[in-house]
Amino acid sequence: ATLPPFKNEPPTDWTVEANRRSFASALREVRKSMPFQAPLIIDGKKIKTEEIIESRNPNSFSEIVGVASKANGSHAQKAVEAAWKAFPSWGDTPPERRAEILIRAAEEARKKRHFLAALQVLEVGKSWSEADADVCEAIDFLEYYAREMIRLSRPRRMGDVPGEISELFYEPRGVALVVAPWNFPLAISTGMTSAALVTGNTVVYKPSSQSAITGYMMVTLFEKAGLPPGVLNYLPGPGRIIGDHLLRHPLVHMIAFTGSKEVGLHIIAQAAQTPPEAQHVKSVIAEMGGKNAIIIDSDADLDEAVVHVLHSAFGYQGQKCSACSRVIVLEENYDRFVTRLKAAAESIEIGPVEDPRFFMGAVIDEGAQKKIMEYIEHGKKDGKVLVMKTPEKGAEGGYFVPLTIFTDLPPDHRLCQEEIFGPVLVVIKARTFDEALDIANGTAFALTGGVFSRSPQNIEKAKKAFRVGNLYINRGITGAIVNRHPFGGFKLSGIGSKAGGPDYLLQFMVPRNNVENT
Ligand code: NAP
Repeated sequence: ATLPPFKNEPPTDWTVEANRRSFASALREVRKSMPFQAPLIIDGKKIKTEEIIESRNPNSFSEIVGVASKANGSHAQKAVEAAWKAFPSWGDTPPERRAEILIRAAEEARKKRHFLAALQVLEVGKSWSEADADVCEAIDFLEYYAREMIRLSRPRRMGDVPGEISELFYEPRGVALVVAPWNFPLAISTGMTSAALVTGNTVVYKPSSQSAITGYMMVTLFEKAGLPPGVLNYLPGPGRIIGDHLLRHPLVHMIAFTGSKEVGLHIIAQAAQTPPEAQHVKSVIAEMGGKNAIIIDSDADLDEAVVHVLHSAFGYQGQKCSACSRVIVLEENYDRFVTRLKAAAESIEIGPVEDPRFFMGAVIDEGAQKKIMEYIEHGKKDGKVLVMKTPEKGAEGGYFVPLTIFTDLPPDHRLCQEEIFGPVLVVIKARTFDEALDIANGTAFALTGGVFSRSPQNIEKAKKAFRVGNLYINRGITGAIVNRHPFGGFKLSGIGSKAGGPDYLLQFMVPRNNVENT
């Protein structure tokens, strides 16, 4: 049967009391099942290891959300072999059938929407609405890539020379290694994995150690949807160790990675080393970090700008690759903007986000907390603190850091150049719109950016000269939506074409051309 046209999964309407109640009950249900157990899954078999990864609630770190098995090198080897063994039959499965499995996995996710989101509140410290959005995005990826595969599976007739039939078509690459981050633990894992699967590749999936339980839940969605054993193998474990065994493995055909610049560059370098027994060059998709800016023009609507800047900078504690970490304000508007920004930022409530009253919660772990605090110390030394808002009582047991806004730091300062991945924002003054654009473009990243302006001329200029993967005008710069906003950057923000867009699946396949003289 043909699929109905793609539609985005609507977010939960929190104004409806029944929805709020259902989410609160999902939180209780998740807590009742804790600690979850997540064994490795290799060739359809569940394997418990002695060594484990403990997944803890960032807002209350004495609480163990789940325990995942920890893979070693020999598990990694077995997982690749299982994926390679499953490849011929999965690769030959008709694309419509593979797409059907994605549609069924989406259905499974819909049935458990609040459960999957509540798990993220407790495992990675997302607020209710951030967690809900992540699950919606995961469902969107499944539905969208299923349709995209059907579109791409029709061979294309090339040219129109009489007596010649030339057909372009695509086939899977082989075994795909999927390496995922924790910050969109279901959405990004599901996006990369479903793209690899629907195009006919088999997968070794390495979730982030910080979100291994959510990763496990994703795998169970595919299992319930009827994916054959060995096609998707679940391999939690420390990236460094798994990486050492898999990045150069001759049977790994491609790597889909989303995470930091440092790890991404390491993966690209490793994957390029082709061992003598390899029969292909590995292809790598690497979606990496950002240092995103919003420009506030002299005529910007400040009521709008302040709200959206705060949301983009501090939503999920700034732990988004798309987060705003620099706001560049035209001189004429600077004092007005800064006064309003300060007042609004100080009204943000910080505390354990399981309570929906709190907009901002704890950061992911102790390492992140320490790193962010170091950046804050640097900022205090070299610039001026505009806002430093600490969490409310009740936050003692979590990895909290203050919401911090600095001014008076030069655009080439570390805080204006490096990805902090926390709730730290720098306000920078610019004399002209051109200067603002230069500052905005003046980092090694190019992921998202934003402009608040009422000037059609400046908006047009920004569309051309603000060189980022995703530019947002008169709105916030986070929350890209599948199909509506194909997402991804360039420069050191990544290599690969945009997730949730029409070119994405092509990266998971090789193009072939058959020419028949008739
Ligand atoms: P990360 O530290 O780079 O880790 C990402 C994944 O790589 C994890 O699964 C990690 O495993 C694994 N890994 C670490 N070292 C490895 C190695 N040597 N070989 C193979 N794999 C290795 O990033 P993160 O902290 O999870 O995520 C935050 C980063 O992701 C930020 O920089 C953010 O900007 C970026 N991000 C980018 C996008 C985008 O679309 N551009 C989207 C989301 C996030 P373990 O941690 O378990 O060891």
